[in-house]
Amino acid sequence: RGGGEPPRIRRLEESVVNRIAAGEVIQRPSSAVKELVENSIDAGASTVSVAVKDGGLKLIQVSDDGHGIRFEDLPILCERHTTSKLSAYEDLQTIKSMGFRGEALASMTYVGHVTVTTITEGQLHGYRVSYRDGVMENDPKPCAAVKGTQVMVENLFYNMAARRKTLQNSNDDYPKIVDFISRFAVHHINVNFSCRKHGANRADVHSASTSSRLDAIRNVYGVSVVRDLMEIEVSDENAVDGIFTMDGFISNANYVAKKTTMILFINDRLVDCTSLKRAIEFVYSAILPQASKPFIYMSINLPREHVDVNIHPTKKETVNSSALAQANTQKEKGTDVSTATGAKSQKIPVS
Ligand code: ADP
Ligand code: MG
Repeated sequence: RGGGEPPRIRRLEESVVNRIAAGEVIQRPSSAVKELVENSIDAGASTVSVAVKDGGLKLIQVSDDGHGIRFEDLPILCERHTTSKLSAYEDLQTIKSMGFRGEALASMTYVGHVTVTTITEGQLHGYRVSYRDGVMENDPKPCAAVKGTQVMVENLFYNMAARRKTLQNSNDDYPKIVDFISRFAVHHINVNFSCRKHGANRADVHSASTSSRLDAIRNVYGVSVVRDLMEIEVSDENAVDGIFTMDGFISNANYVAKKTTMILFINDRLVDCTSLKRAIEFVYSAILPQASKPFIYMSINLPREHVDVNIHPTKKETVNSSALAQANTQKEKGTDVSTATGAKSQKIPVS
């Protein structure tokens, strides 16, 4: 309130900085699962198994049969900004891995208890080690291990009382986790995914590796969905800066569902794109009965230099710079998505 002496500015303690940053990367249990599963895929896994207790607050366990982690890398594995995927800023232009910031595992150690078990090819035994606040709690212990890596996160947000309480009160995150694994299973058809509640015999997602996308969708979303799908494929080699391709499966006019299922991968990254979703829903609204919504699996490949993967630590949205510019002008002009798709202007209900 004006006047008086200004408050002193102090440097925050590193542990405070790290915990604040961690809360942004790992917003909820499902974001931890997403990061861990992406790490498994980045590690070349062909099988990824997820087990979850208490919606992920008590336990998240992700096991894979990927390339494992070298013994000598274990001491810095969970430090912030340590990664095997990126070395120069310019690499971001061409990067194929989903990770690159080296922040996910570190973040988990600031807001939970992380234990890693891993074995690399040709080793007789693996190692197990636990981490807190970015560092190893003890020396890695030799242990029996099968191929690959298992990461266990316990007591997520044990030191963030408000967040833990909100998550406990709200519906638990398990359905979000199942939903996310389902999407991955539809895109990565050569990977076996499973997701179950810890201790349960039955998996809630179980997809066996296949060469057919329709099989994968049937595995995860059921036979009734597959019956009403049609394949789509577009490619444009004349695109100004390289090749644009899009392929996928979308529902036909017989498909009936209360909610849109939109599974969108851009350059193999699972992303949300609200404007595209609205545009597609608008097109469907002309052919579907009033309350019915479409199913869309779409995989778009753009020239890599058009995709900025570094918008946000969670990488939830990835934006084509020209698309972003266009969206912004649309906003300024006060028009809506329907205009952007070339359709006659009409208000689109926000779902
Ligand atoms: P990023 O994925 O951005 O590199 P992470 O914190 O998620 O950062 O992981 C740090 C590093 O740990 C990765 O670069 C990778 O080398 C290694 N790593 C993490 N998870 C696995 C895994 N499941 N299998 C093999 N290596 C892994
Ligand atoms: Mg990662």
